[in-house]
Amino acid sequence: MSEFLDETLREDRIDGFLRHVEDCEECREELSIRILVSEGLPSLEKETTFNLNEAMKSRISGGRKKTELVKKLWISVRVGSCMCLAAAAVLLYLAFTLGL
Ligand SMILES: [Zn+2]
Repeated sequence: MSEFLDETLREDRIDGFLRHVEDCEECREELSIRILVSEGLPSLEKETTFNLNEAMKSRISGGRKKTELVKKLWISVRVGSCMCLAAAAVLLYLAFTLGL
């Protein structure tokens, strides 16, 4: 939980954590309290308005974005390695046909 709030939670664990928070009222409550303390209090001192629901949403969607980014990264890594294989195959084919 604190790892998530510090944004040090590993990307592959954020997804599971968010899923758990969605189903677990206890953790959702604790998360909201922690966000309230970590973000609500400083903004109260600055006399800006603080919306707990908005802060929760932005935290959760921030976590979601991270996991999506990682997923996309993995897909592009996979696509990238396929391209490498294809390039290697073409090079091999050229090497053979040109008798190199
Ligand atoms: Zn829980």
